[in-house]
Amino acid sequence: TAAVVLFTSDLRLHDHPPLRAALAAADEVVPLFVRDPGIHAAGFDVPNRAAFLADCLADLDAGLRRRGGRLVVRDGPVVREVAAVAEECGAGQVHLAAGVTGYAQRRERRLREHLGGRGVDLRVHDAVITAVAPGALVPSGADHYAVFTPYFRRWSTERLREARPAPRTVRVPEAVRGAPLPARDDLSGLSPALPAGGEKAGRERLSRWLRSGVAAYEDRHDDLGGDGTSRLSPHLHFGTLSPVELVRRAREHGGAGAEAFVRQLCWRDFHHQVLAARPDASVRDYRTRDDHWRGLDEAAGDVAAWREGRTGYPLVDAAMRQLRHEGWMHNRARLLVASFLTKTLYVDWRTGARHFLDLLVDGDVVNNQLNWQWAAGTGTDTRPHRVLNPVVQGKRYDPDGTYVRRWVPELRDVEARFVHEPWRLPEERRAGLAYPHPVVDLAEGLARFKHARGRD
Ligand code: FAD
Repeated sequence: TAAVVLFTSDLRLHDHPPLRAALAAADEVVPLFVRDPGIHAAGFDVPNRAAFLADCLADLDAGLRRRGGRLVVRDGPVVREVAAVAEECGAGQVHLAAGVTGYAQRRERRLREHLGGRGVDLRVHDAVITAVAPGALVPSGADHYAVFTPYFRRWSTERLREARPAPRTVRVPEAVRGAPLPARDDLSGLSPALPAGGEKAGRERLSRWLRSGVAAYEDRHDDLGGDGTSRLSPHLHFGTLSPVELVRRAREHGGAGAEAFVRQLCWRDFHHQVLAARPDASVRDYRTRDDHWRGLDEAAGDVAAWREGRTGYPLVDAAMRQLRHEGWMHNRARLLVASFLTKTLYVDWRTGARHFLDLLVDGDVVNNQLNWQWAAGTGTDTRPHRVLNPVVQGKRYDPDGTYVRRWVPELRDVEARFVHEPWRLPEERRAGLAYPHPVVDLAEGLARFKHARGRD
């Protein structure tokens, strides 16, 4: 007997319920990854993520080869390819992790219809991509939690399944052929400091994090210059690490840092359960605020300055340059630049979300779109009208200017008391800096936002 395992956002061998179930049910298993042109058409396979993905697939293939198997990669519409592979090896079952986005939900529905008509059983596994399955926890009278804190309280008492080791052997049927693995070297336009992908790299980073990072997380996670977060997000996005395993190991580690870290992992599950219930929130406002965002023609100059990191607000510019250089940005900085674009420049959150998705190596529809909506006040923030001030945020989270100086070399020699407000420097020093004037006056931006949202 044979079975197919369709890998999607779960590119690992450790703690992988679909692979385990397939190996228990069949003598031979096809570990399959399909490069669906639909993803390409949606503009989602941008260079940074394509490079990380290439690493992940190469590492998954290497891991399978060490166990006597190999990864089969196919190019084409996913339903057609899965059905073809199932037929080629005579598989009676296809195993898959439950997905969340509109795309994943449609894929699952169409696979079920298509395979069902051919007598192939589709088995969908929960809690592979998240620690707790979306929909597993619901408040009374609703289909999902719209507020984080009650969700977190409930989520924290949920019993997680065991995290299981990688299988020892995987036998793949000879008859099934695949396309060559994609290569990172074929890509151009990558961020220069992109991290390496793959399960091996993810597990190494996780071990390092548990050994020497997580204990200080509570104190250091908002310190922009100190860079004290895990940077595990791309591994969670591609599923090279299991969220169940992460929560379990952080809890075993214990302490205030690990608790704060687990709370962040819960944010990820929280957004997944919102989007699973409301897949259209990837493009539409979760809560309508009657915004009439500035037209892109009128705001074009401001948007370009924001994208390129030359708004004249040092913390905003540092963050946007970090994004371009690393394909990653610190969470505190993401919140600030998103608030700045939507509330100070009053530009539609979708414009910012698209730019993030073009560059972020962890860029994902669930966390990106819902965090953008959170920051824009159209999402689940219970204080949707709060506006983050880049100067106040700078003084609080980058008090000595380390982060700004790292990314904005024009300000390298500016002392801490001016580094977040270079316009306060004496005129002759100010004029000598090759650094732009602010694109907007903060008070004017605030007044426009309050007026637009109809609040005093
Ligand atoms: P850590 O602080 O070490 O946190 C551990 C893990 O918890 C992260 O890897 C992540 O999986 C999860 N997490 C932490 N904060 C959040 C959060 N607010 N929402 C959801 N999960 C969270 N995260 C993405 O994974 N992909 C995105 O596309 C994305 N876009 C964002 C856009 C905006 C505007 C904002 C404000 C946040 C976005 N985030 C996104 C959430 C968060 O900024 C990143 O997950 C985090 O910065 C990743 O760094 P880290 O792994 O070092 O995080």
